[in-house]
Amino acid sequence: MKQFIQTNRNRRRVLVVDDELINRELLSAILSPRYEVVQAENGAEAWELLTTSEQPFSLVMLDLFMPVMSGFELLEKRRESEEARAVPVIVMTSDKSAEVKSIRMGAADFISKPYHLPDVILARCERIIELNEDKSIIRYTERDALTELYSKEYFSEYIRRLRPDLKGDVDAAVLYIEHFGMLNELFGRAEGDRILRETAGLITRIIISSSGIACRTDGNSFRIYRRHCDNWEELVERVQTELSSLSPSKGLRLRAGVYQSVDPELDTESCFDRAKAACDRIKGNYGRNTEFYNRELHELEMHRQRLIGDIDEAIENGDLRVFYQPKYRISGERPVLCSAEALVRWQHPRLGMISPGEFIPLFEKNGLIGKIDGCVWREAAAQVGKWKEKYGFTLPVSVNVSRVDIFDHSLECKLCSLLESFGLKPGDLMLEITESAYSDNAERLISLVGSLRSCGFPIEMDDFGSGYSSLNMLTTIPIDILKLDMSFIRSMMLDKKSLRLVELILDIAKFLGVPTVAEGVETEEQLLTLKKMGCEIIQGYYFSPPVPAERFSEFIEKEIMQST
Ligand code: C2E
Ligand code: CA
Ligand code: CA
Repeated sequence: MKQFIQTNRNRRRVLVVDDELINRELLSAILSPRYEVVQAENGAEAWELLTTSEQPFSLVMLDLFMPVMSGFELLEKRRESEEARAVPVIVMTSDKSAEVKSIRMGAADFISKPYHLPDVILARCERIIELNEDKSIIRYTERDALTELYSKEYFSEYIRRLRPDLKGDVDAAVLYIEHFGMLNELFGRAEGDRILRETAGLITRIIISSSGIACRTDGNSFRIYRRHCDNWEELVERVQTELSSLSPSKGLRLRAGVYQSVDPELDTESCFDRAKAACDRIKGNYGRNTEFYNRELHELEMHRQRLIGDIDEAIENGDLRVFYQPKYRISGERPVLCSAEALVRWQHPRLGMISPGEFIPLFEKNGLIGKIDGCVWREAAAQVGKWKEKYGFTLPVSVNVSRVDIFDHSLECKLCSLLESFGLKPGDLMLEITESAYSDNAERLISLVGSLRSCGFPIEMDDFGSGYSSLNMLTTIPIDILKLDMSFIRSMMLDKKSLRLVELILDIAKFLGVPTVAEGVETEEQLLTLKKMGCEIIQGYYFSPPVPAERFSEFIEKEIMQST
């Protein structure tokens, strides 16, 4: 980029390379009213200046026949360096046959000696500089500066133009690097950048022989559009293997979703939505790195449309039910029930019980999530009140605050009035906010968390480690509890690197004085491993799945019995 960023103060620099002083002086006289001219006596001197000079050159005026290193030799050497190649060269010669040869070797233009028409020379220099700068600007917007893959916008545009040629028999794929945020912060951004560049290189190898193109989207995900192939699993596996060997990180994992033989009538964004739906399907499934969009997923899409149509009625009829999952403090000798998480379910009159993973993301997309969350919070607050009254025992319940709720400016007000309605203290209702809300709007989240905490609500950072920002966020947002993403619990039992990563996160949390909850704990082995590493609170099927309030009362009764 250095080549085209020039200010008036900072005049463009032209390098004149000629062994004859008279020629150098003559050209300097012609060019210096417009440019800053630097002189070199031969190719070697020019090469030195081109590759070491702090300030970039906009043009090289090159004589061909010189001692030490000729113009041809310099043109040849120039191919080795990307920086040198970025500077256009005008060759100066009186030998007609050399003109063609030098153009073939990469020169942009030639000027015949002797120099008769200064105005023509100046105009040709200006034109070559301008052309080259335009090219750089196009290249700059066309490419992702970090990986050199296409930018997302250009990618879409190219596909639009490519599609008629590829005629339907193409695949759209999404590749996602899991736990990348953590790598970025534990090993530094430069290391993260290196891994992204390496990944881009590996992806380029996949597409290069298949008329394919690729781009990077949202930091750590990539899109590929290429001629149909049957060995995606193998390709992804190969990239995964190379990536693991290149990376110092603990547990980097590649996940891919592929939409094969795309419907030529479908717009590009929808093609990649389908690939992404397949990719999301294997989130947390460590036995599988590639998933395909298939009939089953297509039916799922239809099903989703049906749910969107039914939600208003469900809210009206009270079909949304709140289940509670216990959280146990395990730091003492025996696990002690310390709180619960409220999780919504939809008791659909025709489709039966629907899990929130199926419908919450839909309503986050269309904005109706606020309504659903409002119902759940009210129901949960009422339940805490009932238990308090029945048992004289306050069991704090945490509710989920969607990333979309963050933008509701009456959020604090709504939550405070709930406490009032059911006679609760702020600590009785805890709020789980997903880590990914930080990347949506960090500023808003920081101020919201500040004001919610000053109202007295404890804040739990949910799904910690799943997003892009993780550790950085820990130091900028004052939170009360950290909830380790479930995928860590899964992967830590599978490989040592992931286990070490969990240990590191727990150490950092301890250093910051933030207690940690591990969710998704299913086995005693997981529990004991986490306990040994200093994790305080456990939630998961090991103790209980989420259950209706009536069933949950049994946990409270058992706890009261044990403590008396
Ligand atoms: P989450 O907040 O990360 O909740 C934890 C999820 O893990 C719950 O899934 C829970 O049932 C499940 N889980 C707990 N222990 C285990 C275990 O040992 N093994 C396995 N495999 N899973 C376990 P659920 O209830 O299906 O909820 C899914 C997600 O839906 C939640 O993830 C949360 O993001 C969202 N959600 C649930 N209820 C609400 C709500 O009222 N409002 C909002 N905005 N989101 C909600
Ligand atoms: Ca949660
Ligand atoms: Ca979670």
